[in-house]
Amino acid sequence: MKLNQQKKFDKAQFKNNVKRHLTSTYVQTVEKASPRAWYLAMARALSELTAFDLLETENDIRIKNSKSVNYLSLEFLVGRLTGNNLISMGIYTQISEAMEELGHSLSDLLEQERDPSLGNGGLGRLAACFMDSCAAQEYPTVGYGLHYEYGLFKQSFIDGQQQESPDAWQGVEGYPWEIARPQLAQQIGFYGQVDIYQDQGRERRRWVPGMFVKAMPWDLPIVGYQSETVYPLRLWECQAIAPFSLESFNNGDYFDAQKSLIDAGNITKVLYPNDNHEKGKTLRLMQQYFHSAASIADMLRRYEAAGHPLRLLPDYETIQLNDTHPAIAIPELMRVLVDERDLSWDEAWSICAKTFAYTNHTLLPEALETWSESLIQRLLPRHMEIIYRINYQFLSEVRQKWPGDVGKQQKLSIIEEGVHRMVRMANLCVVGSYAVNGVAALHTALVKKDLFPEFDALYPERIRNVTNGVTPRRWLKFCNPGLSALISDKIGDEWTGELEQISQLAVYADDPAFQQSYLAIKRGNKQRLADWVMAHLGIEISTDAIFDVQIKRLHEYKRQHLNLLHILSLYHRLLHDPEFDMVPRVFFFAAKAAPGYYLAKEIIYAINKIAQTINNDERVNQQLKVIFIPDYRVSMAEIIIPAADVSEQISTAGKEASGTGNMKMALNGALTVGTMDGANVEIREEVGDENIYIFGLDVAGVTALKAQGYNPFDYYYADPLLKSSMELLMGETFTPGQPDKLRVVYDSLLDGGDPYLCLADFSSYVKAHEAIDAQYRDQQGWARKTILNTASVGKFTSDRSIRDYVENIWHLKAVHR
Ligand SMILES: *Cc1c(COP(=O)(O)O)cnc(C)c1O
Repeated sequence: MKLNQQKKFDKAQFKNNVKRHLTSTYVQTVEKASPRAWYLAMARALSELTAFDLLETENDIRIKNSKSVNYLSLEFLVGRLTGNNLISMGIYTQISEAMEELGHSLSDLLEQERDPSLGNGGLGRLAACFMDSCAAQEYPTVGYGLHYEYGLFKQSFIDGQQQESPDAWQGVEGYPWEIARPQLAQQIGFYGQVDIYQDQGRERRRWVPGMFVKAMPWDLPIVGYQSETVYPLRLWECQAIAPFSLESFNNGDYFDAQKSLIDAGNITKVLYPNDNHEKGKTLRLMQQYFHSAASIADMLRRYEAAGHPLRLLPDYETIQLNDTHPAIAIPELMRVLVDERDLSWDEAWSICAKTFAYTNHTLLPEALETWSESLIQRLLPRHMEIIYRINYQFLSEVRQKWPGDVGKQQKLSIIEEGVHRMVRMANLCVVGSYAVNGVAALHTALVKKDLFPEFDALYPERIRNVTNGVTPRRWLKFCNPGLSALISDKIGDEWTGELEQISQLAVYADDPAFQQSYLAIKRGNKQRLADWVMAHLGIEISTDAIFDVQIKRLHEYKRQHLNLLHILSLYHRLLHDPEFDMVPRVFFFAAKAAPGYYLAKEIIYAINKIAQTINNDERVNQQLKVIFIPDYRVSMAEIIIPAADVSEQISTAGKEASGTGNMKMALNGALTVGTMDGANVEIREEVGDENIYIFGLDVAGVTALKAQGYNPFDYYYADPLLKSSMELLMGETFTPGQPDKLRVVYDSLLDGGDPYLCLADFSSYVKAHEAIDAQYRDQQGWARKTILNTASVGKFTSDRSIRDYVENIWHLKAVHR
């Protein structure tokens, strides 16, 4: 690792570059320029530095001769780049001084950057942490994603209801960190037919697309922490090939002439806003193929330029598929190898089957992608033929393993039979990959046991675990400078590159002076969040309260409504039980609901209405407040997470694959209240049972209850606190003059059958919160627990996740530059 950027850095020259961009790129005078223009000019000047290192990395002969990973993901939730890149480049302080001398505070300028929200939630954020960790450890990597014109929608509330508006994240001036790479553009086909022709006595096939578009790459620089390595996150934008049809133009039909332009612009216009839910629309499949085809073509361009023979592809390139979204890359690579590079089917298959690896992110049936055969047939006719052939050879393996078992063939087939035949993308991925991984130990066990048991029998070594992680650079060093400084003061700063070192903090868990410093930093972070809430929402909150935080996509399985029931129970007890006493609490929510997800939006509405009433109820609002922070995104998470005392990870056991919000908050010293789900299980192993609040049914308990026939009314009538809390949802307590407005949530929990078992887990959840309340009254004991959380979660660095991928799946070597 080197710190060359730091050594190379020339402050005077940098200041001149900023001023040059201010005047020549953004056409503003130094005297009158807006803070936004200063931010843009600064970021452009910085991106010149990283562009240089990006090219150097790209042209490094040792990297060309090493094995690389191609990380294919439809989502990269990178968040703001400027602050993080400054930390990686090791010039945060120098830039801060330089900008100060130009009359601007760096932290104010950083606030001018709008997050590139090119992802929905955990899956996209994971891809971003993984890019950071690949670069930090100098594993040759190219990230491939899509350059959406509009990222995830912006969220606001009108009378408590979610409103969505488009997120033009680049701004009118363009995003200063990205660089266009027009020399690397690709041409991508759609529709058309398959031609059969003779070639030296052999019958060959070739796809003749009916439409072409251009894939234009934009590179975002992923700067290796304290290294000169900069890898590209290459985002493809769809453009029309010809600006317009000259023929139509000459015929005088100006609007018709623009049609291809309008169609092509559509493909990468907007990110689909669904998290853990797939709705098969044509445009989505077009996005997926566009992304896969451009990425495969770019990978082969690099590979062939380096002069390696095709049959050695798996020795030099591996392709990680982030969920099934890029699954169509498998038949695409087959098509290119067989139809365009003239390999035999068997040669091509032996290459493909050693090149792809697939990460499964969910067991939820509604999230498992299938595409109708007729749609693929129309849009990608040659790929459909290839999928049939892959399936044909696969089913013969199934017949060999289980002779005469038609049930097995039907269950495992890539094609699902029925009125409308469907292609199961997960099956395609398992068949076409050399490794399949789950994202936490429990999740992987369930993938083997419940989702793919036959695949696991057929291919015993294929399914493996890689527990997720988060980058300690963004999620501790950058977002929590106070705690970072305290940690480095005690144990040095190697933890930033090797988070496992943070375990050395454990010896200070009982040190009163350290406890005081640690709690003071937490209080400062809580004050920063309180100030944000006052400035943006006009609500006053006290840092004496417990800050209880649930921030993640709104989903029934994540059970924000269980959290809400607990809040209602506190409200009920404060009003009706004179003996009841509680440590003041502020409940924070932040969550976007997919625009088409009705119940999720009703839950948001209920939280907002309940918050409004409670926050204004003088009888309780010194003890209880509820804050819904709108427009959850990475830059908001960076403010909330360092301020959290309690981390809510309360999904129904077996439903959350891993979670990464749980890791970020434990690292920043929040105590988890959580179920035995996803990575919570491993967090408990690391921090110890006394430093986490586990409640509710585990997977076996959930299975047993469902098998026996779950009836939410049994719990409703048996638990007076639960019944009283739920009854608050009826009537007009929170919607004066408009009775029954929160009824949808109430009904989902009773007549709706409560599919995620909120009522079954309610009493155990309430008890866990009582234990948290009691513990908080003992501040020394609390300090000990929170310090031990920070000290115990070194395992959850994404650097370790990436090393697991490297050692168990990718088998590649770092190239230290
Ligand atoms: C970490 C993160 C997530 C994932 O949160 P989970 O609690 O694991 O679902 C989602 N969105 C943003 C902005 C994040 O930073």
